Amino acid sequence: MITVNNKTFVPFIEAEAIQTRIQELAEQINQEYADKKPLLVVVLNGAFLFAADLMKHLTIPCEITFLRVSSYQGTESTGQLKQILGLSQSVEGRDLIVVEDIVDTGRTLFDLCDQLQQQGPASLTIATLLFKPEALQKPLDLHYVGFSIENRFVLGYGLDYDGLGRNTPNILVLES
Ligand code: 5GP
Ligand code: MG
Ligand code: MG
Repeated sequence: MITVNNKTFVPFIEAEAIQTRIQELAEQINQEYADKKPLLVVVLNGAFLFAADLMKHLTIPCEITFLRVSSYQGTESTGQLKQILGLSQSVEGRDLIVVEDIVDTGRTLFDLCDQLQQQGPASLTIATLLFKPEALQKPLDLHYVGFSIENRFVLGYGLDYDGLGRNTPNILVLES
């Protein structure tokens, strides 16, 4: 249990279960991209631990690049995708795997993927560690999903609450 800014979070997904699931996703990617050289496009900040652990288990040639978007304040989506920041590499002609921590309303990834598609990648898939099916508001094709979870606010393993709480090996949920 941890407390962040007076909110209490209780254990939700154990570190070991996270690691096992990431290994399974990596194996799936290894098979499906066996003849490709994908570029992982990591959505900072939340996905940094997931991307690192996922990439460790990839045995295919692959590259990684990072960008930032932000649509959240506190524990609720503002629904506004701010500009893509810091994409330092061309994605034209590349096989992109967009790596995200969590898909909630889906607005962030919907807009982001739209903007990436305009740059002419060869293909684009999404790998998200967490997915809240009940919250989804956009038609998003999620190719790799770690865990589908109920519509509650989570933190840990890279995910924050107002900047704090990213530094746990497990995922915790806001106590209801
Ligand atoms: P969406 O645009 O899908 O509504 O929101 C996506 C972004 O909001 C995620 O990438 C993540 O940064 C943040 N987010 C959504 N749900 C949660 C949550 O339960 N916990 C945390 N810490 N961030 C969340
Ligand atoms: Mg995110
Ligand atoms: Mg956040």
